[in-house]
Amino acid sequence: MSEQNAYDVVVIGGGPGGYVCAIRAAQLGLKVACVEKDSTLGGTCLNVGCIPSKALLHASEKFEEANKSLGKFGVKLGKVSLDLPAMLAHKDSVVDANVKGIEFLFKKNKVDWLKGEGRITGPGTVNVAGESVSAKNIVIATGSTHVDLPGIEVDEKRIVSSTGALNLPKVPKRLVVVGGGYIGLEMGSVWQRAGAEVTVVEFLDRIVPGMDGEIAKTFQRVLKKQGMKFKLSTKVTSATKEGSSVKLTLEQAKSGKTENLECDVLLIAVGRKPFTQGLGLEEVGVALDERGRVKVDEGYQTSVSGIYAIGDVIEGPMLAHKAEEEGVAVAEMLAGLPGHVNYETVPGIVYTSPEVASVGKTEEQLKEAGIDYRVGKFPFTANGRARAMNSSEGMVKILADKATDKILGAHILGPEAGNLLHEIVVAMEFGGSAEDLARSFHAHPTLNEAVKEAALAVHGRPLHI
Ligand code: FAD
Ligand code: NAD
Repeated sequence: MSEQNAYDVVVIGGGPGGYVCAIRAAQLGLKVACVEKDSTLGGTCLNVGCIPSKALLHASEKFEEANKSLGKFGVKLGKVSLDLPAMLAHKDSVVDANVKGIEFLFKKNKVDWLKGEGRITGPGTVNVAGESVSAKNIVIATGSTHVDLPGIEVDEKRIVSSTGALNLPKVPKRLVVVGGGYIGLEMGSVWQRAGAEVTVVEFLDRIVPGMDGEIAKTFQRVLKKQGMKFKLSTKVTSATKEGSSVKLTLEQAKSGKTENLECDVLLIAVGRKPFTQGLGLEEVGVALDERGRVKVDEGYQTSVSGIYAIGDVIEGPMLAHKAEEEGVAVAEMLAGLPGHVNYETVPGIVYTSPEVASVGKTEEQLKEAGIDYRVGKFPFTANGRARAMNSSEGMVKILADKATDKILGAHILGPEAGNLLHEIVVAMEFGGSAEDLARSFHAHPTLNEAVKEAALAVHGRPLHI
């Protein structure tokens, strides 16, 4: 094998886990290659995930504002209409700029992009498009793909996954979304704002499982007010394409009662599963867990020495920033530094309007663990800036340890919740208390004052309610 084909690190997968790992390893002086089979870098997140969905969420929110809320600010518009091709073109250009940005970063950091499917053929050897490269260390960052429902075939036209839902050529009159999680509610919001009647069919008796129950309930109420319909404790048992529509059979979980529903487009958003196809893991002896995730130890090493794994393909929340932090940690460990990820402070954000943002423990989790806690809440109706923005739905909720006051969790439903959450994430990273947040300056008038007030409320002394 030529010296040119010998690397310190070969990362397989160019998504947020893989490309960040490759850049950080190169920054630390290692010779790095990243294998990516798709025609662009950036993985699910940049191509068909975080970035295009946020471009559509932002654009559709502007349309909704122009249609429904700018008038309240005294901004009168003529007839507002949707130019869907332009909206989709905006999304495509944002994706294009972002994926090209990663290519630029690879060149800047001297990371070689090996184009093609990577297959591990032995310890320290990866085959890419018929050519072998050697690697002192291999990092698997092959991500995830959507989960299918048995007997329902996704054609990405009328029965779509999130990928098809990012590219519908026309606004469906009726959209049924299976799954009331991140994708269902974000993509459901996009198409509802564009004019579709949206019904969410959720298997559980609540939406956004894993998030704080009180926040989820209020969130559902807000979405309902926006016109989204919900069928909870219900599953789709069949879907057949007939003419231009899709006919569904639904079954209620408790009673077993069935009903029929018809739609123009069906979005299946019932979760994602790790992607390891074609990697050759079985042959080299890399073990998977019962859910098909690559098993790793605390240092992200798989069952085979010198082979590591990060991101959606291993355990933990399937989020881009989680994959990125793991990419950095592995790169630092491979360079002899102490890499570390704090899983207690991984934020989760649903980018609807209003947004939902969450970090740390929920009330349900604290109760289950038998931890004594105090709760402080502050509604956006009592925040001057939120009122000025006509966006006063929701609240900030902070959970702190009863004995030590350490912040254990925070849950926000409201305007810019995702941005507001980060001061709490940083406070938690430093082991901060509710008192620390409450005594820190929060400029007036900002939405962040609601965070300060919720922290004050942990000790029963909010000032503005
Ligand atoms: P991926 O991004 O999936 O990248 C894996 C890469 O590996 C892919 O490019 C794939 O082509 C490549 N690959 C696979 N096998 C091989 C092989 N054998 N050889 C070469 N290349 C290979 N997360 C957030 O944090 N915020 C969001 O707002 C958000 N929005 C989302 C919206 C949607 C619609 C979806 C679907 C996901 C969203 N996510 C979001 C989740 C996020 O996209 C993932 O958590 C993230 O992309 C995981 O990064 P990764 O690097 O582990 O894997
Ligand atoms: P999800 O896990 O967020 O939600 C899936 C939902 O489908 C759950 O509520 C689940 O109870 C429900 N469900 C499962 N089987 C069902 C069935 N047979 N019938 C009806 N409902 C069923 O998954 P997702 O929305 O597909 O998204 C996948 C992952 O991608 C997310 O978990 C998240 O990690 C990531 N993502 C993140 C963001 C973000 O950060 N804003 C956005 C999109 C996706």
